[in-house]
Amino acid sequence: MRAAFASRNRHKAEQAALLLPGIELLSLDRVAPGLILEEPYDTFEDNAFAKARAVVAAARLPVVADDSGLEVDALGGAPGVYSARYAGELATDKENNAKLIVALVGVPEELRTCRYRCTAVFVAPDGRALAAEGTCEGTIVSIGRGTLGFGYDPHFKPRGETRTMGEIPLEEKLVFSHRGRAFRELARKLGLAPQVAGSPPALDDRFL
Ligand code: IMP
Repeated sequence: MRAAFASRNRHKAEQAALLLPGIELLSLDRVAPGLILEEPYDTFEDNAFAKARAVVAAARLPVVADDSGLEVDALGGAPGVYSARYAGELATDKENNAKLIVALVGVPEELRTCRYRCTAVFVAPDGRALAAEGTCEGTIVSIGRGTLGFGYDPHFKPRGETRTMGEIPLEEKLVFSHRGRAFRELARKLGLAPQVAGSPPALDDRFL
């Protein structure tokens, strides 16, 4: 199967390609050059579907999309769906991380709990749609470590780990990350991966 991937984030595209080996993912710049993807909603699922449907409308192809972000408990769940633009509309990862660390000054380590969330979606040109979610629990460390990954990874220490996401190689990270979990569940719902138990549901039941 061929599908467009509704993101220009090269890290996400690399991860999606590893997680959906049964789908040939076409880049957004190939199928809909110049298309601006909006994230106007306040849930990951609504934003993921908004991006996917915008690309389906432009390219008339099946589309895979995700929306993701970091929720920090001590900040009431911020930055959440605003993770990419926490420090401003065109903020860099460095600026977002700096704002996060300033916001957590004085918060002790045991209260720096957080999670990454990802909702992965698939939308077909006939409107059929599937969604899957993944989370990854962790804590925020003030001094960033590691150059692997992107976004908040240098400051995100997964639960039970001594390394930050910035220090964990990609293939290892995908085993337990929010995106790994969401895309494996999406693949399962699409019938692309072996079921853990039982046989795949009939096609119509797999779509929302
Ligand atoms: P969006 O899904 O394109 O809205 O971007 C989500 C933002 O959340 C990214 O720009 C990062 O700041 C952050 N984020 C989401 N997933 C990850 C991840 O796997 N590692 C690091 N940061 C992430």
